[in-house]
Amino acid sequence: MTHDTLDTALAEAWIRAAAAAVGRAEEQLTALDAAIGDGDHGSNLRRGFTAVLTALDDAGPGGPDRSGDEGGGGFDSAGALLRTVGSTLLAKVGGASGPLYGQAFRVAGAELPPDAGPAACADALAAGLAAVRALGGAEPGDKTMVDALAPAVDALRSAAEAGATLAGAAAAAADAAEQGARATTPLQARRGRASYLGPRSVGHQDPGATSAALIVRALADAAARRAGSPVQH
Ligand code: ADP
Ligand code: MG
Repeated sequence: MTHDTLDTALAEAWIRAAAAAVGRAEEQLTALDAAIGDGDHGSNLRRGFTAVLTALDDAGPGGPDRSGDEGGGGFDSAGALLRTVGSTLLAKVGGASGPLYGQAFRVAGAELPPDAGPAACADALAAGLAAVRALGGAEPGDKTMVDALAPAVDALRSAAEAGATLAGAAAAAADAAEQGARATTPLQARRGRASYLGPRSVGHQDPGATSAALIVRALADAAARRAGSPVQH
C-alpha cells in the first residue's frame, strides 16, 4: 500500500533531490545573481545544501547508500527533518537567502504534521511563505523568491482541494513556481540587493525565485519517483 503523504522518507528524498538540483544549477544561479546582485547565490546555496546533506548523513542510518524505501535517517518525522534543514541553512548560508530559506524550512517543518497529505503540505508551505514575507517584507511582484513560492502555495492548495495526489499537487506547484520565476524577468526589484539597481534590474530573472522553483520541483520529482511515475520535464 502506498501512503500519499509527505513522510520522513519522502522529505529526505526531496531534500537530497533539492541539493542535487542546486548543485547542478550553481553556475546558472550565480550568473543570474551576477546580473542583478553580487553573484553569490549559487555558491551560497550550494554551500548550504552541502551542509544539509552532511546533517542528513549525520542524523543516523539512512545515508545515501541505504537500500529499500525506508529513509529519513534518525529523524522522527518529516517536520523534524525539515526543521534541521532550516537550521542548517540559517547557520551556513549568508546573504539574504540563507535566513529566508532557513526560516521558511524551520517554520514549514514546525507546521507539518506527521504524514501530511496534499492539503496539510499546502498549509505548511503557506506557513513557510508567510515566514519569508514576515522576515523580508516582500510582496508578490517585488521580484524575489516570493514570486515563485506564492503561486506554488496557491497551486498546491487548489490541487489538494481538487483531490490531486501528492505527486500531482506537487507537480502543479512546481509548474506554478517555474512560471512565477519566469514572470520575474520584466519586473523591477523592490527588495534585496537587486532593488539597488532600480530600473536596471528589469530584464533579468530573479535568482532567488529561480532557486525556489528548483526546490519545489525537487519535491515534485521525489514524489513522482515514489509514486512510480516518470518524472516529466
Ligand atoms: P544576497 O542578495 O544577500 O547576496 P543571495 O544572492 O543568496 O543573497 O540571494 C538573493 C535572492 O534572495 C534574491 O534573488 C531574492 O529572490 C531573495 N531576496 C532578497 N531579499 C529578499 C527579501 N527581502 N524577501 C524575499 N526574498 C529576498
Ligand atoms: Mg547575492
